[in-house]
Amino acid sequence: MFAPVIPIDQIAAEAQKVIRHLVRSGHQAYLVGGCVRDLLLGRTPKDFDIATDATPSELRELFRNCRIIGRRFRLAHIIFGNKIIETATFRANPREDEETPPTDELYIHRDNVFGTAEQDARRRDFTINGLFYDLSAEKVIDYVDGLDDLRSHSVRTIGDPNVRFREDPVRMLRAVKFAARLGFDIEDQTYRALLSHGKELEKSPVPRVLEEIFRLLRGGAAVESMMLLRECGLLEVLLPEIQPLLSEHPGLLDPYLAEIDRSVGRGDVPANAVLLVMLFLPQLQSLFEADGKRGAAPLDLISDALAPICHRLRVSRRDVDQAKHLLLLQRRIAQARLRGGKLPPSLLHREELRPALALHAVVYRVERQAAGADDVTIERELAAWPFPGPFQLGVDAPSGRSEFAPERESRGTDRRRRRREPDESAPLPAQPRVSAVPGKASSSGDDEPLLDEEEAALAAFVAAMRSSRDDD
Ligand code: ATP
Ligand code: MG
Repeated sequence: MFAPVIPIDQIAAEAQKVIRHLVRSGHQAYLVGGCVRDLLLGRTPKDFDIATDATPSELRELFRNCRIIGRRFRLAHIIFGNKIIETATFRANPREDEETPPTDELYIHRDNVFGTAEQDARRRDFTINGLFYDLSAEKVIDYVDGLDDLRSHSVRTIGDPNVRFREDPVRMLRAVKFAARLGFDIEDQTYRALLSHGKELEKSPVPRVLEEIFRLLRGGAAVESMMLLRECGLLEVLLPEIQPLLSEHPGLLDPYLAEIDRSVGRGDVPANAVLLVMLFLPQLQSLFEADGKRGAAPLDLISDALAPICHRLRVSRRDVDQAKHLLLLQRRIAQARLRGGKLPPSLLHREELRPALALHAVVYRVERQAAGADDVTIERELAAWPFPGPFQLGVDAPSGRSEFAPERESRGTDRRRRRREPDESAPLPAQPRVSAVPGKASSSGDDEPLLDEEEAALAAFVAAMRSSRDDD
């Protein structure tokens, strides 16, 4: 239970400033959406969003630190150092203006009609996301019966779910996300609509769907999210590449997803490439073994698993590249681990090394758990690995490379980083670029740089992925 009052010290000072300035200037301004929901549930909001009757141009007049963003629907970012308070003018559901909508074309193509506070609440997706908080009155404004649903832990669309899901099918994924993350139930009618309209997801823009998949995986409740997706039939629309395997072995991914959740819980949020790889770990297991065959075979395996999904969902080149490298490093890590030896110096600069080690640890932990080992034993075994921890899945984790890469070899680091993060505006090379592997001459007994043929095959693979995407 909660009292619908939010202690002022829980509200970011910057958001308070924006609201107070707007109200002093004669405008309405409220906290809205996820932050009100989370604060009432005693959770820490990701960010603080504000809705107001001030137009974007009025916002620009009122705030010097204001940047207007968005082409279709303009909203204001009010900037305080590295904190941004997103401030949007009240909007209406565009269909409210129209006569009776044609029943077969509900999909909303435009979303740029200003409205009143109440209209703004009603155009939102779920009742628990439609609450406003009036800072000066210290009161929740509830146009949509969201407080009741927040109390009864229920995810319910605002209005008819059959209409709201067809207007924007991504809302179905959001229903799953909030239910899984908050531990809420999906209200009956809303759930039945989920069962009926899954196919409509195919109408949604692919980048939004992809982003929502990543959000489901890194929302801290990946196990629960995948279970719900499977139950309501969305998995076969969303991830047909893994759905058949999971319907045969429903719990197959759970131990890996649980590792993602554990990691997110520690504040170590896996990058997209890691999440992508995790979905295919059961198929890619053999890459984690020390005695796998060299040459093209691992790449074939990687390609078979990842290419279809990367192509269909137009995964960014950077993420595809990173996923490949994460996987290609596995056998080398396995070899070094079994020898109790060091990693080849040529690998020390790879920015994927840290998440690759963490991924290796995940697979190891899951295998040992399956063999009946207890957590203490597994942690002891991991601590004895000859690699410096902590093993973090986040590619962009702070202090990323430095721990592994000695200063004097930083030239190699730069080269590799440049190669993997090309200027997006630069034309793509016609031929895959195959680079010489630095440090080869200095190889000690332990130093086995990534094989030239591996590099070459990888480059060709990436080039093939690129051109298949360019065909679209
Ligand atoms: P999170 O904690 O994941 O950020 P959130 O509720 O803040 O959750 P956002 O995606 O940040 O979700 O969106 C902010 C608000 O905008 C939501 O709370 C909801 O009111 C509204 N909203 C977002 N997406 C939609 C949508 N597809 N349809 C209708 N309203 C939406
Ligand atoms: Mg939010």
